[in-house]
Amino acid sequence: MSTALGKYLKEILTGSWSLLVGMGITLRQTLRRPVTLNYPYESLQMTERFRGHVDLIPNEETGEPNCVVCMACQKACPSNCIQVEGVKPEGAKRRFPTLFLLDFTTCSLCGLCVESCKFNALKYSREYNLASLRKEDYQMDLLDRLGKEPLR
Ligand code: SF4
Ligand code: SF4
Repeated sequence: MSTALGKYLKEILTGSWSLLVGMGITLRQTLRRPVTLNYPYESLQMTERFRGHVDLIPNEETGEPNCVVCMACQKACPSNCIQVEGVKPEGAKRRFPTLFLLDFTTCSLCGLCVESCKFNALKYSREYNLASLRKEDYQMDLLDRLGKEPLR
C-alpha cells in the first residue's frame, strides 16, 4: 500500500515539474521578440540587392521622373515589355515621359533595361507582394506608380 502511495506521489511530483518546465518555456517564448510577421498586414523590408520589377526613379528635388525618353531601355529589352512615349514641352531642355508601361508577364528580370539607362532613371523595386490571378495586374503603369500625372 505504501509503495503504491509513494509511486502515486512521485507521479504527481514528476507531472507538476513537467508542467512547470513547459509553462516556463511557453512564458519565455511569449516574452521573446517575434521573428515572424503578421503577413499580409505586415511586409518584410527587402534587401538592397533584391531584384523586383523595374521602377522609375524620381528626381530628388522635383519628384519628376529622371527619364528623358531616350528609348534605350525599350530597345534593350529582349522581351519587348517596355513601352515609352514622351514629349518635349515648349522651352524645356529635355523630354519627359507621357507613358511608361511595363508588361511584367514577360519580363525575365534580366536587368538590361536598368543597365542601358544612362540617366539614373530605372531601378529594381523592392516589391515582392505580386501574387495575383489577374494577368492585367502585371501590366504596370510606372508613371502611375511614381504618383505623377504625365505631362501632355
Ligand atoms: S528586366 Fe529585362 S526583360 Fe525585364 S523589362 Fe528590363 S530588359 Fe525587359
Ligand atoms: S533608358 Fe532611362 S532615360 Fe532612356 S527611356 Fe529608359 S528609363 Fe528613360
